[in-house]
Amino acid sequence: MNFTTTSQNPAPRVKASLPIIEPGKAYDFDRYADAAARDERLKRAVDNAVVRNDRGRAQRMLDLPDPDALRSLAGQIKQHTLDNLDYYLLQLKKSVEARGGVVHFARDGEEATRIILNICQSNGVKSIIKSKSMVSEEIELGHTFEREGYDVVETDLGEFIVQIDHDKPSHIVTPIIHKDRQSIAELFRDYFKTPYDDDPKALTMQARKHLRDKFRRADFGMTGGNFIVAETGDICCVENEGNVRQSTTSPRILLSLVGIEKLVPRMQDLAVMLKLLGRSATGQPMTVYTSIFGQPRLAGDRDGPEQFHLVLMDNGRSRILASEEYRETLRCIRCGACLNACPIYRKIGGHSYGSVYPGPIGALITPLLNGIETFPDLPKASSLCGACYEACPVKINIPKHLINLRRDLLGRGSGSKIEKKVYKLYAWMMGTPARYKLAALGSRLFLRFTARNGFVRRVPPPGSGWTQIRDIPAPAARTFRDEWKRSRR
Ligand code: SF4
Repeated sequence: MNFTTTSQNPAPRVKASLPIIEPGKAYDFDRYADAAARDERLKRAVDNAVVRNDRGRAQRMLDLPDPDALRSLAGQIKQHTLDNLDYYLLQLKKSVEARGGVVHFARDGEEATRIILNICQSNGVKSIIKSKSMVSEEIELGHTFEREGYDVVETDLGEFIVQIDHDKPSHIVTPIIHKDRQSIAELFRDYFKTPYDDDPKALTMQARKHLRDKFRRADFGMTGGNFIVAETGDICCVENEGNVRQSTTSPRILLSLVGIEKLVPRMQDLAVMLKLLGRSATGQPMTVYTSIFGQPRLAGDRDGPEQFHLVLMDNGRSRILASEEYRETLRCIRCGACLNACPIYRKIGGHSYGSVYPGPIGALITPLLNGIETFPDLPKASSLCGACYEACPVKINIPKHLINLRRDLLGRGSGSKIEKKVYKLYAWMMGTPARYKLAALGSRLFLRFTARNGFVRRVPPPGSGWTQIRDIPAPAARTFRDEWKRSRR
């Protein structure tokens, strides 16, 4: 699920500028985040889009009579499903099979890939249309199809651009948030060998024409799944382009690859989730298309697949499920709202996280799924401001879990000697009110002495990292405590 390759597979073609995770080594988050934070074009592109979506979310949530209660309900539904996942997975299997579908359980990405390739081979598949799926990104399935010689195309416009640019998505919902119009126009000029045209409509029509032909010829359609309803065996996919609708109706074989955590028990639970997903992701009350499917075509049906397969992939999720402390993180419905709200994500974009799951939820689940030793810096990639928790439609307490992961890291002996000494000194200083007051007085005097024209522009290490890119306002002459005391006299 990260930007490395597995030892079994040859390296997929990806852009040289993407982060590399060297086997056996901890991912160097600082290096990539530092470079991204200096890239003004990237910051502008990311900031424009996420701020718009974040504002849209806040606005559309106000349409609901009691948004907070709905978020609580959604969190409870997901938590109940996770707490009883063994029951609901078996119920789902029976529901899908009763309607003529085939359910496959995959322990990990390799097994899921093997199952899917077997289905393709035994049915003589040649061309594949894929709709957007983070799970297939997680196991690099698109690259595997390409390596195996299939004519495979991503049908979501953003994912199509990622595919032809040998890039990686940098946002869960809007994969090309890091690209501006001009860079897409340059890419299309080179890929389609046509004159440069950066009109968004012209670009979309160019991609549409190319994809139409692929839709017509494909014999294998692949989707992910935003939700699966255990009671009925239905898969629900939401989108704005209509490509999922095409992928589920025209090819003769349809396969959905979904993580085991995507279940909800009943149709009425799905209604709760759908009220929140579009609003949280893009500020839409509903996405343009909501496709609900889950069986082969019936006698007399004019379209639909001859076969329907559902592959339920674990790939580390049951390990998280088993740890009651972090189970809540599996509630995630991949709406991206926490990314849009996060001040860190806004400054560095998604690639720096080294995983297909960036932002606050990525900082949590990437180490949980792949090992905290490989991603020790991600839990620290947060200001713990709580904006992610406020935005999350299923109320995952992301800051709390990030702190717990930091604790786990310390338990494993992580952290430099200097860091440990600094924290010891800090704990001693905060130990009594007298020491705290003394330390506060000392730092206030120091900062006031250093300040020029109302700002402190440089402080010695470890604070120098802060002043390297921003100034600190000089402390006020009188403290809040002084003012408080004076007002009560
Ligand atoms: S953690 Fe919450 S806000 Fe973030 S993507 Fe998942 S559901 Fe959305």
